[in-house]
Amino acid sequence: MFRMEILKEKILQEGQVKTASILKVDSFLNHQIDINLMNEIGSEFKRRFQREVINKILTIEASGIAVASITAQYFSNAKVVFAKKSEALNMGSEVYESTVHSYTKNKTYSAIVSKSYLNSGDKVLIIDDFLANGCAASALIDIVRQAGAEVVGVGIVIEKGFQQGRKEIERQGVRVEALATIGNMKENSICFI
Ligand code: 5GP
Repeated sequence: MFRMEILKEKILQEGQVKTASILKVDSFLNHQIDINLMNEIGSEFKRRFQREVINKILTIEASGIAVASITAQYFSNAKVVFAKKSEALNMGSEVYESTVHSYTKNKTYSAIVSKSYLNSGDKVLIIDDFLANGCAASALIDIVRQAGAEVVGVGIVIEKGFQQGRKEIERQGVRVEALATIGNMKENSICFI
């Protein structure tokens, strides 16, 4: 089977379409994690970005961490940095910060990364589980650029192609690679592009 057909099969078999265009994939990505599938995902991101020099993978807590960590093993053990969603007391004031509106939770929060872990020479691949309107990825791009580092691209496991995320990220001059793109979905049907 073509590698990412495995992901699409999994979405079809185990994904649950919730209200407001939310896809629940708790059984393999957002609550329980299927490590074999994560390895396929990591190696597919490597295949797609193989020509790029990447020394850091940036994601946002919580669900991005597993995908980013497994993916990093395919990029000569690039370091994984994850943005925190609230200001932890021990992070100090030396941080990069950007605002995110959460599509799933309908609230606004800050994404925060310590200045210790992003530097001007870094070549950064941004990874996340979902792309909807592009707010989370845009905040991460903003943080990389605040650090004077380079965004090599954005890698997404599941893109909802009926939302504006890709357009928003490409408008910022950043390449987007999504492993499964949903064209439309209803309670009992999910169609890929
Ligand atoms: P965006 O910032 O692109 O609007 O939304 C992406 C973020 O919201 C991702 O980090 C993901 O956690 C969450 N998200 C957006 N849509 C969905 C969805 O349909 N299902 C799940 N599980 N998470 C989503």
